[in-house]
Amino acid sequence: MIRVGLTYNKNHILHDYRLKGYHSPENPDRLFHILQYLREHKIFDNDQYDLFPAMPASREDILRVHTAEYIDSIKHYADEGGGFLGNDTYVTKDSYQVLLQAAGCAIEAGNVVVNNEFDHSFAMIRPPGHHSGVDSYGGFCLFNHAAVLARYLQRVRGLKKVAIVNIDAHASNGTHNIFYSDPTVLCLSVHQDPHTLYPHTGYVNQTGARPAFGYCINMEMPEESGNQEYAIVFDQIVLKMLDRFEPDIVIVECGFDSYYKESLTQLDLTTDGYFNIISSLAEKWNLCLLLEGGYHDDMGLLVEVLLSALVGKKYIEDDVDQITLLVSRHTSARSAFNDNLGRLKSVLGLYWDIDA
Ligand SMILES: [Zn+2]
Repeated sequence: MIRVGLTYNKNHILHDYRLKGYHSPENPDRLFHILQYLREHKIFDNDQYDLFPAMPASREDILRVHTAEYIDSIKHYADEGGGFLGNDTYVTKDSYQVLLQAAGCAIEAGNVVVNNEFDHSFAMIRPPGHHSGVDSYGGFCLFNHAAVLARYLQRVRGLKKVAIVNIDAHASNGTHNIFYSDPTVLCLSVHQDPHTLYPHTGYVNQTGARPAFGYCINMEMPEESGNQEYAIVFDQIVLKMLDRFEPDIVIVECGFDSYYKESLTQLDLTTDGYFNIISSLAEKWNLCLLLEGGYHDDMGLLVEVLLSALVGKKYIEDDVDQITLLVSRHTSARSAFNDNLGRLKSVLGLYWDIDA
């Protein structure tokens, strides 16, 4: 029986800029709604799913990724009461503790899989992390949880190769910044074309630096890309690259903002699309999924879809008619997608045999 472990950072409510009278789409309601949905749908009556606790990460855990100066600057800013750092990113007086707890959840999500307590794990944490680089914040992100987990697994748990797959609508620029010249961490990011969306980087031709050329992979998904295009990218790029790389574990930067109802982005994944890409990964690899973005009302539904995909049981009917969706979109979406995929294959072909 496949088993999935879940955790969340219970102190996340302290990272809320509304405490100072401002509103941000990245606020505690996101996680509240997910947890309420899981309770109402009695998810934990199913013995394939269980919650596990997590301790806060230590400063040393964060230091494997971020510079001491950067960590101290965030802590100092919080200690002073917090405020806006800019670039959509805020800090409250308790944010540093929230960040350590979120990173601790990510680390424990790795431990429970490495220890074979669960086949897959999902850390429902906030704020998100994938825009945070070695010494940079941005797009709601302060510490990079996926990178902290990857380095922990390598340095403490002895894993050699880690893959990080980003399915958030926004490119995983912070994660790529951290591992850009590291061939022990394969970074794959499938995201909305950065010409049309923050962080305005994460292009097909950004493939890593010596000695890791070809280990950083960016797929630009044109606006209105949906289930079909994601299926093609996963079949022809993501799954093949994982087979070539043979990671010891796969971390998924799991954003729910590639969903067709997301107002901040312009992609068209539906529940079936999420089911298919998660199950295609889970069929072969042990996954540690970390919550990244997603700001719409169906976050709870998508978490249930994700949990069903992890155990390979599809029981949620998609309420979107794909024919209607396809008819409604611009015809250029598919041709732009094909162009981008072709460019990605030619650039990856310099480093990997992906045609076989
Ligand atoms: Zn996002």
